[in-house]
Amino acid sequence: MNTVIETHSHTVASGHFTRDTITDLARAAKEKGIRLLAITDHSPSIPGSATENYFRGLKYCEKRRYGVDLLYGTEADVLDCKGTLGMSDEVLAEMQIVIVSQHPPCFRPSDAEANTAALVNAVRSGRVDIVGHPDDEKYPLDAEALVVACKQFGTAIEMNNASLAPNGYRGNAKMRDAELLRLCKEKRVYVSLGSDSHGAAHIGDFSNAVALIRECSFPEELIVNTSIPLFRTLLEPHRAVRMQYLKK
Ligand SMILES: [Zn+2]
Ligand SMILES: [Zn+2]
Repeated sequence: MNTVIETHSHTVASGHFTRDTITDLARAAKEKGIRLLAITDHSPSIPGSATENYFRGLKYCEKRRYGVDLLYGTEADVLDCKGTLGMSDEVLAEMQIVIVSQHPPCFRPSDAEANTAALVNAVRSGRVDIVGHPDDEKYPLDAEALVVACKQFGTAIEMNNASLAPNGYRGNAKMRDAELLRLCKEKRVYVSLGSDSHGAAHIGDFSNAVALIRECSFPEELIVNTSIPLFRTLLEPHRAVRMQYLKK
């Protein structure tokens, strides 16, 4: 499988686990054969992450470094069961890619009903490109409800390579991911592979996710990382909705 897109990465701006910059990540992407790199630092809701002003400034950054095209976005927290995201509408509208994820400092793990409602309502806002690591054992989930919402709104489900690493810190992610892959295959929902690399070290490393995809005989044509035109087409409608929120 020719994976040319990295959909999920963090720089020093996320405030933890790395001092690497956008430039460092782009250089690593080039070395790994990645042609489109999404920089998705944590939204300002996570303690220690960058401020909204930082994200506002991203539109002035180079769109290409070391021959790698860059997308500047965020991994936004979902904050409540209504699907509220941890970044203002104004700044979200400027993001080129938005992942929504649950993290304990911003969304306390609850029962399946509450955890699922948060993610499903974020997806139903139409503003989300990817649901990040919905495989965390701490967050019981109605996987089918999430996949159905993703189908309706053209949102991809992430296979997070860090979750699937041996001794990954999200518990038994493999079981949930296998269930999600089964549902995505059945309902023809796109899957995105993300390294979730904090820093340059793991950029473009999807080895654990690819192993599971092979194990589950998941169809390659539903994996967004292999085609830049397909990926850009999937992003467009959500960007348009984020812009519409400004006119409300
Ligand atoms: Zn995350
Ligand atoms: Zn992340």
